[in-house]
Amino acid sequence: MTESNYSIQTNLLHNKHKFDQKTGAVSVPIQHASTFHQASFDEFGEFDYSRSGNPTRQALEEAIAELEGGTRGFAFSSGMAAISTAFLLLSQGDHILITEDVYGGTYRMVTDVLNRFGITYTFVDMTNLHEVATNIQPNTKLIYMETPSNPLLKVTDIDGIVKLAKANNCLTFVDNTFLTPALQRPLDLGVDVVLHSATKFLAGHSDVLAGLAVVKDEELGNRLYKLQNSFGAVLGVQDAWLVLRGMKTLFVRLEQSSKSALEIANWLTKHSAIEKVYYPGLSSHPGFEIQKGQADGPGAVLSFRLKDEQSTRIFVENVKIPVFAVSLGAVESILSYPAKMSHAAMPREERYKRGITDGLLRFSVGLESAEDLIKDFEQALEKVESTEKITF
Ligand SMILES: *Cc1c(COP(=O)(O)O)cnc(C)c1O
Repeated sequence: MTESNYSIQTNLLHNKHKFDQKTGAVSVPIQHASTFHQASFDEFGEFDYSRSGNPTRQALEEAIAELEGGTRGFAFSSGMAAISTAFLLLSQGDHILITEDVYGGTYRMVTDVLNRFGITYTFVDMTNLHEVATNIQPNTKLIYMETPSNPLLKVTDIDGIVKLAKANNCLTFVDNTFLTPALQRPLDLGVDVVLHSATKFLAGHSDVLAGLAVVKDEELGNRLYKLQNSFGAVLGVQDAWLVLRGMKTLFVRLEQSSKSALEIANWLTKHSAIEKVYYPGLSSHPGFEIQKGQADGPGAVLSFRLKDEQSTRIFVENVKIPVFAVSLGAVESILSYPAKMSHAAMPREERYKRGITDGLLRFSVGLESAEDLIKDFEQALEKVESTEKITF
């Protein structure tokens, strides 16, 4: 991997794959072949079979490795395929410390699948270093972080956790989906494995499912490669190409969406129908200083709380611009309702304990004008307030 002095904004475009070495094509060629002719009886080429290696997939793997400051990247058929494959670095009898507001699919993998293979877990408030330290067991082999977290945007002190992990001989994983290497590079902070749902900001257009894993350590890279090839949940070539194309505009998309997110978060904090706004770009956010220290920005996802389910329903039914859907990190703004979407499977009491109330909405800010989004929210919140007046 070439060490470059350019900023990430430039590196997104001018990497090893800016043009094809053979043809000069300025878009990475899509190589559909599943198998590769070998030159002779005992001479084997760089590629043999596309599960084990494919030039188009490799272009994406090298691009993400370089952007994250790693040595090896691995592309998978979804974020969950990347995360699940990385968990296979563990063995029977190992214990995981994992953030309590982890992505729903990861929660399911740990609590419903890995437990059947003798891998145990403890959920902790990852923002509380003392709580993390006191929950480390002799067989703890992995500390799993997601920061900012979903949907409450809690900020974990990556450096603090890495120090604890190193002192206790544990691996660290960070799910870097919300910020991407454009804003946060966990490997630079000593993290072992960075994971992505590239479905979100990296690809950015709600048109592809993809996952990525990146490591810096060579030995860990070899182990992860073996797992990728053994498990076989690799990314297809068309999808690899879509992610590569999406990534070219990552920086400008995130910059624009983050700017709008801050404007919208500030506006929401002043609105009487909004009880609370969760966004690490607000100086009132408890993780504001840590976020500023470890990332280049707060990102483009925020959450906010209305009074109750009824108010939230009225808001969602009246808001016009965002799509109402699961997922995030796209060119179009996406409004989600965690209580009935990502966290529907969680018992209400557990949800409330984690702050995921019936009035909580998550908003992934897209590329629309912030002014239009605020106007749209304003008219929908007026409807909420006028109905609240009628009911009381
Ligand atoms: C979406 C998401 C995932 C899962 O990725 P898929 O591509 O849907 O499999 C994992 N972590 C986070 C934070 C996500 O938002």
